[in-house]
Amino acid sequence: MAEFDFDLFVIGAGSGGVRAARISAQHGAKVGVAEEYRYGGTCVIRGCVPKKLMVYASSFSDAFEDAAGFGWTVGQTSFDWSKLIANKDTEIDRLEGIYGRLMDGAGVTHHKQRAVVVDPHTVRLADGQTFSTKYILVATGGTPFVPEFPGSELAITSNEIFHLDQMPKRAVIVGGGYIASEFAGILNGLGAAVTQVYRRDLILRGFDDEVRQHVSDEMAARGVTFRYNTDITALRKEGDHLVVSYSDGSEAEADQVLYATGRIPNTKGIGLEGAGVVLGKGGEVVVDAYSQTNVPSIFAVGDVTDRLALTPVAIREGQAFAETIFASQPVAADHALVPTAVFTQPEIGTTGLTEEQAREEGEIEVYSAAFRPMMATLSGREEKMLMKMIVAKDSQKVLGVHIVGHGSGEMIQLAGVAVKMGATKADFDRTVAVHPTASEELVTMKTPVR
Ligand code: NDP
Repeated sequence: MAEFDFDLFVIGAGSGGVRAARISAQHGAKVGVAEEYRYGGTCVIRGCVPKKLMVYASSFSDAFEDAAGFGWTVGQTSFDWSKLIANKDTEIDRLEGIYGRLMDGAGVTHHKQRAVVVDPHTVRLADGQTFSTKYILVATGGTPFVPEFPGSELAITSNEIFHLDQMPKRAVIVGGGYIASEFAGILNGLGAAVTQVYRRDLILRGFDDEVRQHVSDEMAARGVTFRYNTDITALRKEGDHLVVSYSDGSEAEADQVLYATGRIPNTKGIGLEGAGVVLGKGGEVVVDAYSQTNVPSIFAVGDVTDRLALTPVAIREGQAFAETIFASQPVAADHALVPTAVFTQPEIGTTGLTEEQAREEGEIEVYSAAFRPMMATLSGREEKMLMKMIVAKDSQKVLGVHIVGHGSGEMIQLAGVAVKMGATKADFDRTVAVHPTASEELVTMKTPVR
């Protein structure tokens, strides 16, 4: 008789958990999974995927406007929020089904219910079923955090925004991070009056300063109102709308107030402390390079570990875990030079160091160009793309690439390969330009601007 019911029990069927479960099963492990909400996790159900669908939806307003300069007359347009939400939901249902079938196909036993850790080798499901397992993988992700203040219960988060019955005509969005800035663009593009409220003086802290300024200016030009150095002190309901009280004493009406003020790891009440697992200050599971906690049989991957809260990173961590434990090939997840995109409007693609970070490390050359993309010549849209490259002065190694504008998420994936390979500025320069494109700027920047 087997010593344990399972070789591996995974709690959380999001990007990281499902990858770990599948790969472990492919290597011969007997794997169980529990998920309290829906298969696919935050990214598929209420994150990256529905968000990107909504970004597409919101970009049509620009396209209709831009068409005129190319000779088109676009007739009366109108937007149906309910139709977008319904179509989006159909697609999310389809993807959730695929996640379930992927687990079936790999021979993984899955349970749609909450699971808690009882001890280092035991998990218990909400219905009372208890399983023994050689290893436990915690992949429970994160959840939106809303600070407490009078009326904070009236605010919504990114969990609710995807399911509203109506599009808010007046939206207040709090936060300066990825989610706040992306939703400011989405709702603005769909025709809402959007105010983005941020407690400091420029959105997207942690990104390159020139990129932040460029995006903020472009978003403002498209109609987003920024209230910098401002907090919300209270919310109250009046009739069918909300009244927002700001820290400067002013008030404004809104239909919805979206808080995107960060996410916290989902570690509450899942038995980790009882099993002896060390949590960090923010409640995150503390792990080593192999995603192992201080309890040898318990591992954790993805947002719950608060390393790099990005889906492809969680997937890599899940894969590395499975190969380490069940293929006897120790692999540490690689968190260096991770390219990423922010689907603001305009979009950001970025990899490597910002100018500010690179300066701390040594002497650098900065190549930067802001230019009008070809599309904007006939459309008449007042917009500029930004391309920026940070190069180490001595080695000429490219330390960072930052792009703002249409298609930059696509471009940075490829620039990310070159930077990961250790490309120098000369390597970029000897690559022939693809003409006419925006990305050719990356191989034609001749003189550093500073
Ligand atoms: P972020 O950590 O990116 O941003 C949180 C924002 O909220 C910051 O601007 C922060 O301000 C502000 N904030 C925090 N606490 C308060 C408070 N008490 N009052 C007012 N403002 C506050 O979190 P998000 O929720 O936007 O996103 C979570 C994570 O999800 C991201 O870190 C990212 O890794 C991931 N994500 C990735 C996406 C992508 O790849 N495109 C898209 C969406 C999410 P301050 O700067 O002062 O700390």
